[in-house]
Amino acid sequence: MPLDHPALAAADPAIAQLIAAEERLQADTLRLIPSENYVSAAVLEATGTVLTNKYSEGYPGRRYYEGQQNIDPVERLAIDRAKALFHTAHANVQPYSGSPANLAAYLAFAEPGDTVLGMGLPMGGHLTHGWGVSATGRWFRGVRYGVRKDTGRVDFDEVRDLARAERPKLIFCGGTAVPRTIDFAAFAEIAREVGAVLVADIAHIAGLIAGGAHPSPVPHVDVISTTTHKTLRGPRGAMLLAVREEHGKALDRAVFPGLQGGPHNHTTAAIAVALAEAARPSFRDYAAQIVANAKALAAALLERGFDLVSGGTDNHLVLIDLTAQDVPGKVAAKALDRAGIVVNHNTVPYDPRTPFDPSGIRIGTPSLTSRGLTVEHMPQVATWMARAVAASRTGDEVTLKSIRAEVAELMAGYPAPGLG
Ligand SMILES: *Cc1c(COP(=O)(O)O)cnc(C)c1O
Repeated sequence: MPLDHPALAAADPAIAQLIAAEERLQADTLRLIPSENYVSAAVLEATGTVLTNKYSEGYPGRRYYEGQQNIDPVERLAIDRAKALFHTAHANVQPYSGSPANLAAYLAFAEPGDTVLGMGLPMGGHLTHGWGVSATGRWFRGVRYGVRKDTGRVDFDEVRDLARAERPKLIFCGGTAVPRTIDFAAFAEIAREVGAVLVADIAHIAGLIAGGAHPSPVPHVDVISTTTHKTLRGPRGAMLLAVREEHGKALDRAVFPGLQGGPHNHTTAAIAVALAEAARPSFRDYAAQIVANAKALAAALLERGFDLVSGGTDNHLVLIDLTAQDVPGKVAAKALDRAGIVVNHNTVPYDPRTPFDPSGIRIGTPSLTSRGLTVEHMPQVATWMARAVAASRTGDEVTLKSIRAEVAELMAGYPAPGLG
């Protein structure tokens, strides 16, 4: 059921209609992009409030603008909830999104030209971990580790050798297409040996960590960078957490005044709401269900002949190598989209194709788990995917259309949170 936006519909019918269409699309489709989710109605409401009207450069109790009677307590609540949920000494909830949060970590602990060690983009790392086209790769010297070709898992011998040879100021662990558990302790041992600041970028898995379904980076790492809108199921935004107080001040100075102006207070409020939701026992069930669903989906895909990077998953994400299907990732992703199954094309480690036309697709279970789907549904999802990928090879649009109808019928029984 579409939400009611009477003022918007009257003032700007073109935008109102597009938003209504997007609500329908999000309701009717099987959304498998692992970085996406459905926020709760409470989070959605918080983002659409008058807090968007207020300027508040600075931090609670130390602002450059008056009138912070309500804003300061909102930000303090968000900070306190973040510290309690992730067990850190310090929290900054102001970064506009994950990429600026990571840039703030560079600003806090490195100088332009310094060496940073991160996972390579084709191996599952994020652009902001020092990749060339990113500011982080242009202004810093990015050195990259990868995964082993035979296991699809991080090669810690390589990480240690690179760290010893290159002496990075910063090391990033975590990534954007990593289907396996991140061994924060192993990274920490290496970072300590070479005197690097270790940043855990948990953008994808923050909700799993909060819900106890992935090991915590605390106490191993120095800094945690995370978005708030992926598995954590909050608004578009980010946080920087210092595990120990010693790194807190540098992070705060880097975010403001180093990189940003006024914080987005409506987002801060919604982050606070999402953090409270993530602290509830039901969120632990949610996190466990995400992983159970991903494992069941991975098993069902393997049964149907798909190759999975690293052979499966420990978390919310599955990376499919379509080389055996002889279908490029982009072709498969577009066909799946027409079948009502929304994924993204993705490079796979050692991809012989280009990043613009790679061999794989990346899927995940946070959104379908928010809808209430369970392991029982995963064989059906895998069957639809196998049929759609096969149909993409033969241009069989009739099959794609019939899958789309079947998907919409299933999803109608599992209403989307936040969509009225
Ligand atoms: C999503 C993501 C980011 C960037 O977040 P944006 O909000 O898109 O800027 C950074 N790091 C990792 C590992 C991510 O997955």
